[in-house]
Amino acid sequence: MFGRSLYAVFAVAALSLTATACGGQAAASNASIVDKAKNDKKLVIGVKADQPGLGLRTPDGSFTGFDIEVAKYVAKQLGVEPSGITFKETVSANREAFIEQGQVDMVVATYSITDARKQKVSFAGPYFVAGQDLLVRADDAALTGPEALNGKKLCSVAGSTPAQKVKTEYAKEAQLQEERTYSSCVDRVLGGQLDALTTDNVILAGYAAQHPGKLKVVGKPFSTEKYGIGLKKDDTAGRKAINDALEKMFADGSWTKALQASVGASGFAVPQAPQLERY
Ligand code: GLU
Repeated sequence: MFGRSLYAVFAVAALSLTATACGGQAAASNASIVDKAKNDKKLVIGVKADQPGLGLRTPDGSFTGFDIEVAKYVAKQLGVEPSGITFKETVSANREAFIEQGQVDMVVATYSITDARKQKVSFAGPYFVAGQDLLVRADDAALTGPEALNGKKLCSVAGSTPAQKVKTEYAKEAQLQEERTYSSCVDRVLGGQLDALTTDNVILAGYAAQHPGKLKVVGKPFSTEKYGIGLKKDDTAGRKAINDALEKMFADGSWTKALQASVGASGFAVPQAPQLERY
């Protein structure tokens, strides 16, 4: 009798272990980034690949820039070393989808926190505040700000907040060409087919620095872009852990150091760290 009940106990224990294992696997896509990082010691992080100073793929295939430094710092706080990170290129239009489909665990890609995006993903941050501006050819004396957009041919990127702003607020004045990436816009402005690229000033500063004497940032920001780290919509624990990591990065000087080293090189004035908006 004793033998049998002991067997029964083991059998039940084994069953529940199996159930836990299966349940764990089935629920893996819904698991918090905190658990994933802790258990796997690996993360897939969506970043930009063509934005100098922010997220740039170098010829050897590695990534550099401020977003990359932020991603590495946060990953480390979650228990993932740089060797455990796979950076995956995202463009402006596929960031929500990549997070929703689980193609990436988080996105650190000049990604503005907006109410519309919050319907699909959630955000930690902000870890930087930028503003929409204009990049024009260095010899362009006419395009001096958003008030001078009349009849101009503008370039921006599909799925970005600056493209959306042009469509809703400047549709009457300007003609908008939407590209997949900002670097293709840069080529079109340099080539003279289009008059200006519009997106965040900090992104434009990187391109202007890449083409000295050929391109300049107008310097009259006309929006507020709060950069957040995007993650699964319902991952409250993940959002809190990432916010804690950002708070630490602001406080220990790593944030300013990373910003100076990456974005400061383009002449962009390094600001104070922003206030986190925990929700
Ligand atoms: N910050 C803006 C956005 O999230 C523009 C930069 C970008 O497209 O990555 O849409």
